[in-house]
Amino acid sequence: MATTTLKPEIEMSDKKPASTKYVYFFGGGKADGNGKMKDELGGKGAGLAEMTNAGLPVPPGFTIQTEACREYMRTNGVSSDVDRQMEEALARLEQLQGQKLGKGENPLLVSVRSGAKFSMPGMMDTILNLGLNDQSVEALAKRSNNPRFAYDSYRRLIQMFGSVVLEISKAAFEEVFDAKKEQKRAKLDTDLDAKALKEVIAEYKKVVKKKTKRDFPQDPHDQLVMARDAVFRSWNNERAKHYRRINNISDDLGTAVNVQAMVYGNLGETSGTGVGFTRNPATGTKEFYGEFLMNAQGEDVVAGIRTPVHILELEKIMPSVYNQLREITTRLERHYRDMQDFEFTIQDGKLYMLQTRNGKRTGLAAVRVAIQMVEEGLITKEEAIFRVEPNQLYDFLVPRLDEKDIRPADVLTSKGLPASPGAAVGQIVFTADDAVRRAGHETTKSPVILVRSETTPEDIHGMEVAKGILTSRGGMTSHAAVVTRGMGKCCVAGAGEIEVDEKAREMRVKGQVFKEGDWISVDGTTGRVIKGKKNTIDPKPDDPELLKLMSWAEPFRKLRVRANADIPRDAIQARAFGAEGIGLCRTEHMFFAEKRLPHMRAMIMAHDEKERRAALKKLLPMQRSDFIGVFKAMNGFPVTIRTLDPPLHEFLPRREDLMVEIAVLEAMKPKSPKLKRLKTLLRRVEELHELNPMLGHRGCRLGITYPEITEMQARAIFEAAVAVAKDGIKVYPEVMIPLTATVKEMANQAAIVRRVADEVFKEKDAKVDYLVGTMIELPRAALVADEIAKESEFFSFGTNDLTQTTFGFSRDDVNKILPTYIAEGILKHDPFAVLDREGVGQLVRMATERGRSTRSDLKVGICGEHGGEPSSVEFCHQIGLNYVSCSPFRVLTARLAAAQAAASDKLKVEGGRTK
Ligand code: ADP
Ligand code: MG
Ligand code: MG
Repeated sequence: MATTTLKPEIEMSDKKPASTKYVYFFGGGKADGNGKMKDELGGKGAGLAEMTNAGLPVPPGFTIQTEACREYMRTNGVSSDVDRQMEEALARLEQLQGQKLGKGENPLLVSVRSGAKFSMPGMMDTILNLGLNDQSVEALAKRSNNPRFAYDSYRRLIQMFGSVVLEISKAAFEEVFDAKKEQKRAKLDTDLDAKALKEVIAEYKKVVKKKTKRDFPQDPHDQLVMARDAVFRSWNNERAKHYRRINNISDDLGTAVNVQAMVYGNLGETSGTGVGFTRNPATGTKEFYGEFLMNAQGEDVVAGIRTPVHILELEKIMPSVYNQLREITTRLERHYRDMQDFEFTIQDGKLYMLQTRNGKRTGLAAVRVAIQMVEEGLITKEEAIFRVEPNQLYDFLVPRLDEKDIRPADVLTSKGLPASPGAAVGQIVFTADDAVRRAGHETTKSPVILVRSETTPEDIHGMEVAKGILTSRGGMTSHAAVVTRGMGKCCVAGAGEIEVDEKAREMRVKGQVFKEGDWISVDGTTGRVIKGKKNTIDPKPDDPELLKLMSWAEPFRKLRVRANADIPRDAIQARAFGAEGIGLCRTEHMFFAEKRLPHMRAMIMAHDEKERRAALKKLLPMQRSDFIGVFKAMNGFPVTIRTLDPPLHEFLPRREDLMVEIAVLEAMKPKSPKLKRLKTLLRRVEELHELNPMLGHRGCRLGITYPEITEMQARAIFEAAVAVAKDGIKVYPEVMIPLTATVKEMANQAAIVRRVADEVFKEKDAKVDYLVGTMIELPRAALVADEIAKESEFFSFGTNDLTQTTFGFSRDDVNKILPTYIAEGILKHDPFAVLDREGVGQLVRMATERGRSTRSDLKVGICGEHGGEPSSVEFCHQIGLNYVSCSPFRVLTARLAAAQAAASDKLKVEGGRTK
């Protein structure tokens, strides 16, 4: 459930008490706010306040709190209180600095920075050097005795203000800038001199005039108000909305605005700017980690325009600044008791801190850092459990490249940055849209590698569907690196030897040209890019540090975690990941195998029960041997086997294909005996054809109309169970009847299962314990769960079908509707991915209560896709289910999510997944 700090609508802005504090000042050694006030000040503002209070060198400024943003969203403006308090804070800042915004011989310049409660990279670009205009730029040039610096700052302002506030495309400015560099034969931005930059400014102003029909605003106050409002508006831009959706952040929070006195990293060779981490965010190793650039400003380091320098080099260039930075960041880490991600600027040899926050990291690093910090006495074991997002555990399960498959000649570069670990193999695409087109949202479509010179927040939808990301520019803290690490996705960044031509949709390296659709393999653990489709090796989930963290978490867990596995191989895999049984074994998957399909088809084509039984008899030994394998793998753990569920036509050829084949034969070989066979087949296919197969002849309806199918399956299950038990292996079969809506359906099928069980036990003179239960997938079943429980010894919620039948959404076609529903805010999440607590969840809760009112020891679990999704797992814990069942690769995630849910109950820690 969304936590919201939004005040009720009725509290109209004009009735707001005059005392609302909208603006929080920081500077001169103390701040109005503090680090705990992230709701009001946003993460960045809270960090600036906290650092100021700690006496760290932070340029002074003020934060306009999130309430002003929420007001702006409601009313399309801000109240006069906000304007007044902002003017007061500005006056205070001017006084503290002894400067005036954009005026006088020593003009005050500020940055305008967005900053929400949760960091949202790329929501809005920061505007630097605000306050510059045609006059103040001259004053700055004179005062700094550095005209180049002044004009560089002014051109940056026009560029940033132009794109962020005036919404002119960045390319319009880049064109001008690149043309000037070419004209002056300048290789680097820094090679342009004052005169050239002045020319750039004149042309930038023309761009502004042409695109907006107005001049670049010269009044510093106008600039400030416009920039502030642009930050508020940026909360609702598409990138921000998308980021919030995939990260579960409430749309109601709003952003704060930070206005801060500028310090200049572009003053010359004793100035610079950089970013860093107190530990390695990719591996978790305890080392000072980061990058910087001398004579640079703002985002130069992460933008990949120049190649940044490793932070350890700073020790050689400016040892005292380096030591001070280490000392400050170590203090910050101890203070926040977490790995810090910090930003700094050096102005003329003096260090300033511009930001600190808990750093994003890979799952590998999250586990390592948590364990180190417990060992260092910084955090407790209980806290460590919450330092890892359950989804991040994928990192321990990510594949690596098979070295034997790699010939040195295939290695296109080994000098890329290992930005996010794991290996990815796929076809090249050059734009985010192409990635979505080729990869779609389903894993079944073609795997793609998104190749860009560098990524921007606009690429996020493509990054989401790509198997891996490759960029030719940008460092370990570039957008691509940071975002993929958060996603647990493989990324090689800054592979400088690769030339990416997005326009021509080409990648050139080592004299070879690669086009869209060509296969490459990327290794985010080492930074290599390899030609072709290489083999990958499955990882080992038995990392000792992972096991240690799990051993701290697991004692809290109440919910059992099972896996969905249909064949012995998957069952073995699931056990390795710690599954405590199988929650769903789909028998039909066994029938699709090549050797079995003919028998399955013969069964379906049978004219009468006798023929059908004959075909089933052939299937029996195959089913039995599968079950033997699965039971052996699950030695001692329960195995839930579902009787046949899908509509029978799924096992037959497609009607359209048959019709085409028949038409061709009729024309070419009308005498062929095959033609007759096909016609019979077509007749059966047409008999079985249904308009709504998902609501049709499937589930228990099959077993009721053809009881011999259930009989055969029950026989295979019990014969296998008895055989395995005789070998001394413990077996607990749970036979599950799908898609029941009434207790009579359940009684009908349960009677068959029990009768066959008795027969087998008698024949074999042996017995095993077993249960018969049902899958709850229809709202009616949930409503009459107390009745159904009379015949059912367990419930397993099939939340995929239950979501489908509750919403009336076809889960195979919902993607036509879903994007609009999510964009319009009608649904917050895809209900097939995240369990809909209010609707479907209510049915689950209610059916569990009703079922247990009949049978107090009713075993209840879920086996839909939701069983491996952390927020859904949390919900299952809260309503007291016995287990969740998910795909083998999500077992670890589910285990940690279940442990966190239980630990947060016990420790009263905020463990909710929804931010
Ligand atoms: P983001 O949220 O994208 O990190 P920031 O608001 O932190 O954006 O700004 C990005 C960069 O701009 C900072 O890392 C810093 O280098 C630069 N910057 C911001 N404010 C100032 C300032 N007052 N003086 C100098 N540089 C600044
Ligand atoms: Mg920043
Ligand atoms: Mg189902």
